[in-house]
Amino acid sequence: MRSPGTLPATMRAAVLSADGVVRVERIPVPRPRSTEALVRVHACGLCHTDLHVLKNEVGFPKPCVLGHEVSGVVVALGDARDAGVDTGAVDVGVGDRVVGGFIMPCTDCSACHDGRDDLCERFFSMNRGNGTLYDGESRLARADGETLAMYSMAGLAEYCVVPVSGLARLPDGLPVDASAILGCAAMTAYGAVVRAAELSPGSTVAVVATGGVGSSVVQVARGLGAARVIAVDVDADKLALASMLGATDVVDSRAGDPVAAVRALTGGAGVDIAFEALGRAETFEQASRMLADGGRLVAIGIAAGTTTAAVEITPLVRRSQRIIGSYGARTRVDLPAVVALAARGGFDLEHAVTRRYPLEEVATAFDDLGAGRIRGRAVVTMG
Ligand SMILES: [Zn+2]
Ligand SMILES: [Zn+2]
Repeated sequence: MRSPGTLPATMRAAVLSADGVVRVERIPVPRPRSTEALVRVHACGLCHTDLHVLKNEVGFPKPCVLGHEVSGVVVALGDARDAGVDTGAVDVGVGDRVVGGFIMPCTDCSACHDGRDDLCERFFSMNRGNGTLYDGESRLARADGETLAMYSMAGLAEYCVVPVSGLARLPDGLPVDASAILGCAAMTAYGAVVRAAELSPGSTVAVVATGGVGSSVVQVARGLGAARVIAVDVDADKLALASMLGATDVVDSRAGDPVAAVRALTGGAGVDIAFEALGRAETFEQASRMLADGGRLVAIGIAAGTTTAAVEITPLVRRSQRIIGSYGARTRVDLPAVVALAARGGFDLEHAVTRRYPLEEVATAFDDLGAGRIRGRAVVTMG
């Protein structure tokens, strides 16, 4: 391992125990292996997917450390990189400010060979399935040796190990704490807007549900030239934030039929692209009925269990509409692209991050997220 100085032996980390409680514990600082970096974490964003694990709505081994969008500084690199081995990965060095994307591509499965980092087989089977990195082992353990599973890079800690393929360098102009949200909220939005929707400048867009990811979709769509972005939500605070982040129109879906409202705003035509960011049948069906001829419904909200939605077949067929799912993005290409978008002012990090919690308050932060008290995105800072 290559490291400029002596690392501390232990660190604070937010450990989720089998009893479903998150507590800050002191555990050994992990060590990176080949093709991995050790990152001193400045901030880690809080996402609903962490909450799904915390509430046992998604199966994941425990005890574990959550947190899958981080910013920080590289403090050490694994041996293979030291020996000059070609990892085929992003080039980062000790001392670089970086952001970590939640999909950390293994770089060696057939999906990764095809550039489809978003479908990386080992990420889903080994990390999301077992809480390990790609040699089948976690880098984290308690002081007594009990293994701690890693949800992505396990970013809710003072240090985390990240495969270098999951990192992008942060330019000087971007803030090192708020930039954490580039790794999931913004990258997911970028994948949805660029890869799935294939948005072209001048498009009209609706975003149904404007929480952390939905409000990021508003920003990325505007940043990439959408002429009209209509934010749809039930929460006035979220709609106000969406306006600040670039929505040209807002629709309060409690005030009447949101489909009729979106159609009225577009002269009856509907939108070129409707994003659904909640994962509920009702909003999915609404989004499908907002589409113009040739329109695309892009689904990015993870649904509970085996939720299904009803979509009217004939308009889909006769109007050449499409329904496209989108999860994350192609980290190695898209994470640097979303960093560049933010660096040129196309993604406002300071307004997107609305709350900051110290690590000691991580349990309160998850309570607030679960209770819908956070508009935009919250980050946990390591201090
Ligand atoms: Zn996330
Ligand atoms: Zn892979």
